[in-house]
Amino acid sequence: MKLYNTLTNKTETFKPIDKDTVNMYVCGPTVYNYIHIGNARPVIFFDVVRRFFEYKGYTVNFVSNFTDVDDKIITKAIEDETDEMTVANKFIEAFYKDAERVGSSTKYLAPRVTEYMSSIISYIEQLVESGYAYEIEGNVFFRVDKINDYGILSGRKIEDLMEGARVEVNTQKENPLDFTLWKTTETGITYPSPWGEGRPGWHTECVAMIHEIFGGKIDIHGGGIGLIFPHHENEIAQNRAFAKHHIANYWMHNGQLIIDDKKMSKSEGRVVLVKDLDYDYMGFRLFTLSTHYRSPIEYTDETLKNHVSEWEKIKRTYTQTFYQLDLANYLDTKTHPDNKLKQILHRFVEAMEQDFNTPNAITELHNLVKYTNQKLRQRNTYSDLRAALEMFDTFFKVLGLRPDVQRLTQTDRAIYMAWTDARKNKEFDKADRLREKLLEKGIL
Ligand SMILES: [Zn+2]
Repeated sequence: MKLYNTLTNKTETFKPIDKDTVNMYVCGPTVYNYIHIGNARPVIFFDVVRRFFEYKGYTVNFVSNFTDVDDKIITKAIEDETDEMTVANKFIEAFYKDAERVGSSTKYLAPRVTEYMSSIISYIEQLVESGYAYEIEGNVFFRVDKINDYGILSGRKIEDLMEGARVEVNTQKENPLDFTLWKTTETGITYPSPWGEGRPGWHTECVAMIHEIFGGKIDIHGGGIGLIFPHHENEIAQNRAFAKHHIANYWMHNGQLIIDDKKMSKSEGRVVLVKDLDYDYMGFRLFTLSTHYRSPIEYTDETLKNHVSEWEKIKRTYTQTFYQLDLANYLDTKTHPDNKLKQILHRFVEAMEQDFNTPNAITELHNLVKYTNQKLRQRNTYSDLRAALEMFDTFFKVLGLRPDVQRLTQTDRAIYMAWTDARKNKEFDKADRLREKLLEKGIL
């Protein structure tokens, strides 16, 4: 298994810390709004990462947080004339609904900042005690120049960062690069701390949660490319100070979603919300996975539509196969793939093992469709069709695609029998009517 590590800028062989386990953490959303299709990209991609590791036999401990304490949530609460928790709860629920829609699992540990406040405060306290952080009038800052390799993840140099930081005037900080761990404030929801009533800065929650949940170094830390600097850089710096080691062995970052030549963002340009997509969500998932996760995705309505109809074709072949086997009472028979199918599977797995090359894996899904369509046109191919169906199920499980096909009902079977009888008896009008019905249900 090879994956590209942002920390070393190299494609590396994956070696887990514990033989059969993958411990991974992905930065989750700040819950003050509905997610757009760009936000859905890590939700889909890292779900596939988890699925593939599970396919390979690993136990995956997948954690992704909710930032439920933040200035944006406070602003939203004021706007809506409600409190922060109502806003956070509403959008956490909406997030789960959207994740479900796009086919991603929601059954993982999702810690909230409000639940980990004491861990976050004690984490900051230890940084202050060890001299890596300092307090000035109720605000706590991290001393960036105590970390020798600050900039290691983003490849930025302290001198260049200083150049950029000069515009920001904060007379409290010893160094313009120092970042906030705690801020004292009277606006919005606040929490008691050794430095007064206030709120934690955004960069500490993930490291404090990882420390609390995993108790040490994790295998994979993931997130969107936009988080590399400063968020992930600051996570690394804090953990270096706190635990004297890197927080994660592998850093994985997904690219952005581009719309009208700009990154899709809530603050500018056109935004398409996941909940407003008027297509089969599996088509959207296929669209997202058809670009390699590290490359940007260029979104247009046209390309999305193309993927939606591609998904319909895949689904049609799957459904027909399923029903043919069901009608022949062949669904519960176990068969073995022929060499051609074995090669398709081999190339699929190989693609996924090469830094999660989902576009190549999807090419194999299309090859499987071609293979199956050929078999559907031939006679006496139940055994091959049964093996193909099982392979579809494997690919769907890894990619998180759901065809939603149920076994035939008694009525469906009765219509099918009536259709074959009508054909036998040359009752062509009747046969045509029944055929229409069967086509409508996707049985033919
Ligand atoms: Zn984070």
